[in-house]
Amino acid sequence: MKRVLITAGASGIGFAMGQAFEASGYDVWVIDVNAVALESCPKTWTTRVVDAANEAQMRVFFDEIANAGGIAVVCANAGIAGPTAQIEDVAWDDWKNCVDITLGAAFLTAKFAARLMKAAGAGTIVLTSSTAGVFGYPNRAPYSAAKWGVIGLMKTLAMELGPFGIRANAICPGAVEGPRMESVLQREAAAKDMTRDAVYDGYASGTSMRTFVSAHDVANMAVFLASVGAARVSGQVISVDGHTENPDPKA
Ligand code: NAD
Repeated sequence: MKRVLITAGASGIGFAMGQAFEASGYDVWVIDVNAVALESCPKTWTTRVVDAANEAQMRVFFDEIANAGGIAVVCANAGIAGPTAQIEDVAWDDWKNCVDITLGAAFLTAKFAARLMKAAGAGTIVLTSSTAGVFGYPNRAPYSAAKWGVIGLMKTLAMELGPFGIRANAICPGAVEGPRMESVLQREAAAKDMTRDAVYDGYASGTSMRTFVSAHDVANMAVFLASVGAARVSGQVISVDGHTENPDPKA
């Protein structure tokens, strides 16, 4: 059976990825910092409390997964929203925290997965970036910079690891319905002196399909990127966002 590892898989997009990969016949391993949320994961999954941005914890965890036979697919999905503030008000510590977790976790996941995949001579790495990694994102400088960094990391992984039979691609979700976006909407509404609904409409109207997306839309793309149908797809930035051509320049 093929095995997938998903970071930050106890909720949101990562959880939907676990469900989608399991439905496709994968042995699902999930790590997350939230022990309580991990307990709600299906009992068929292997779950561990691991901080994907902590090198020591990741090293120990990857030793365990190596002993279990390695992984065919890894979804480097961990990331935090970071502060919502104009650049002059972003605290240095908040910048470092957001970039360390959002970009640092992707780096560590890829670093440890690459060792296993190189030894196996095959593998697929799917990184979760964001539309904030394709466009500028006013008031979200650390997050946007980190998500652009995820794209650069993915492009480099694709070139470095392609000769070893390993593919790397990035998914850029648009605004995903759920608790995380709700809190972003509330914070942006406060920062911009707007209502939550007006901010929501701003996001939705920035897409040609006038929509948010679901975690399952993103998860389905991850499964496709890991599938034989994507056997020659690598180094690509794939948006699952209802088509954002030009986000609201007034945002
Ligand atoms: P979420 O806020 O629902 O959180 C998912 C999980 O991440 C939580 O269970 C949390 O405990 C875990 N987590 C946080 N830091 C971690 C760490 N260092 N190590 C391990 N687990 C950690 O998130 P989500 O909305 O599902 O987002 C998942 C990914 O998708 C993130 O990288 C996010 O930036 C990206 N993304 C989300 C959206 C959106 O609208 N929700 C849009 C674009 C991109």
